[in-house]
Amino acid sequence: MKDRRVSHAQLFFGPEGAGALPLAIAYAQYLSCTGDKDEDACGKCPSCMKYTKLVHPDLHFLFPVNNTASKKEDPSCDDFLPEWRTLVMQNPYARLNDWYLHIELENKQGLIKEKESDAIAKKLSFKSFESDFKIAVIWMAEKMHDVASNKLLKLLEEPPEMTVFLLVTENPDMLLTTIRSRCLPVKVPLIAREDMIEALQSRHTLDTSQAEFIARLAMGNYAMALELMRENEEEDSRLTTFREFMLAGFLNNIASGMKTVETLHSLTREKQKSFLEYSLRMIRENAVKQIHNTGLNYMNRKEEEFSVNFSKFIKGSNLVPLTEEFNKAIYDIERNGNSKIVLLDLMLKAGKLLRQ
Ligand SMILES: [Zn+2]
Repeated sequence: MKDRRVSHAQLFFGPEGAGALPLAIAYAQYLSCTGDKDEDACGKCPSCMKYTKLVHPDLHFLFPVNNTASKKEDPSCDDFLPEWRTLVMQNPYARLNDWYLHIELENKQGLIKEKESDAIAKKLSFKSFESDFKIAVIWMAEKMHDVASNKLLKLLEEPPEMTVFLLVTENPDMLLTTIRSRCLPVKVPLIAREDMIEALQSRHTLDTSQAEFIARLAMGNYAMALELMRENEEEDSRLTTFREFMLAGFLNNIASGMKTVETLHSLTREKQKSFLEYSLRMIRENAVKQIHNTGLNYMNRKEEEFSVNFSKFIKGSNLVPLTEEFNKAIYDIERNGNSKIVLLDLMLKAGKLLRQ
């Protein structure tokens, strides 16, 4: 790799979550590394240190933006650089939607505007500051406005000296054919399951079975794996809340019950509803386990552990009334009932039913 000629325009393309962006940045870091590099950047030289914070003066980024609540009136990529660096450092596998959520773009679409290609042309016309190369990473290159695309094409046809363009896209077909044909294609495949398991375990506190479970569902998409992990954590916290809720009701412990109710009360109505729906599912699963005594359950490991004891309290006699009470609470919350009153009432009634 070391002595190979560097192609001045390269197109990193691959499906969502495959990691085309982190790969492009790693390649840029390799090109700029001034340390002892062989197959990889050294990770220690001043250039590499700046890359870890994405603040190298010869590294430029273009990405789709639009007006947001905090940045009105035709903002440019540079206006969003702090947010961009934060997101990419947190999650280099971020999806377009993650970016839009991060900058609170709401329902608008982002765009790489015409003025961005003028701005990048100007930046690249100067001599590099520290590195041999000036590098422009264009993320979601298909979001370039037509005029921006044509101006980029001009740059690719007559590139400023010692400049490298790294285009990143999930949809290469949406780029101008003329741009595509100017770029060296670099295909980024989905991540192999073994690699994903290893990555999940080394970067997060997961045991082997959890990592295998998530890798199986994520199907090579690292962004999806991260989302699944978030959901998993949410499930865990919902189970904890459900346990507290039912226990306080069972023991008729108003003081500790109020704490749980206050926590739920502080959530949005949608989240309150989602907690109640989760509770209904837990009641149903535990009834299936207890009444039919089958192994046909859809619970995760923690839920299974919880159900060893909890399922003993769900019987043929209280299953229907419990289900009715939770459904009634959902109905009341949907109709803007006071959630504190609705939930406390539910907790006490459910507790009484469990004591039967
Ligand atoms: Zn280095």
